[in-house]
Amino acid sequence: MTENITRRGMLLVLSSPSGAGKSTLSRLLLEKDDNIALSVSMTTRTPRPGEIDGVDYNFVSTAEFENLVQQDGFLEHAKVFDNYYGTPAAPVVKAIQAGRDVLFDIDWQGTQQLTQKAAKDLVRVFILPPSSQELERRLKERAQDSAAVVARRMSKASEEISHWAEYDYIIVNDELEKSEQQLFSILQAERLKRVRQTGLVPFVHEIIGEE
Ligand code: 5GP
Repeated sequence: MTENITRRGMLLVLSSPSGAGKSTLSRLLLEKDDNIALSVSMTTRTPRPGEIDGVDYNFVSTAEFENLVQQDGFLEHAKVFDNYYGTPAAPVVKAIQAGRDVLFDIDWQGTQQLTQKAAKDLVRVFILPPSSQELERRLKERAQDSAAVVARRMSKASEEISHWAEYDYIIVNDELEKSEQQLFSILQAERLKRVRQTGLVPFVHEIIGEE
């Protein structure tokens, strides 16, 4: 019965420099829990091999992107590595009203905008790599990116990390399994917050027999 108590969904933001393990952790969380879905961002960057339009991103032209900006259709948007990225608002609003949680893989700029717009519904998690050496190693391991791209991402990483203190939770991703558990615990605890359990008032009234 208790799982039927209506609740309001949350916006769970995961940020990190690339190479800290954020994509793997997102994937694991999405596999483990049916009530959270990934917000599919729009981007003007070209797809990498294996990326699927509509699944990894909605890949659009700059003109299409700018069009949605004009229509105020983004919850947040930012320029990252010369490309535009943004979160279309409509699917997110629909999901949280229906009591489903939404996972965001966005950078610090997007997180700041969401903090302005939706602080009450927001849970911000920052993933740190265990060391700079490990971060570099993981970036180099990604065969898909050229050496120049790796070098740029490494320098961008320190900029992203400098925003760590703007987040509610910090996970140092040393062991994947432990980090996955920590992320799952955050999700579980945040779901239990009184403010998210919007159906509690009628539920409690029924328990104590009030009209
Ligand atoms: P990538 O090109 O490697 O997929 O992503 C590059 C960076 O853009 C990552 O840090 C990722 O979190 C960020 N990003 C992806 N989608 C969005 C979005 O919709 N909004 C913002 N602000 N950042 C995004």
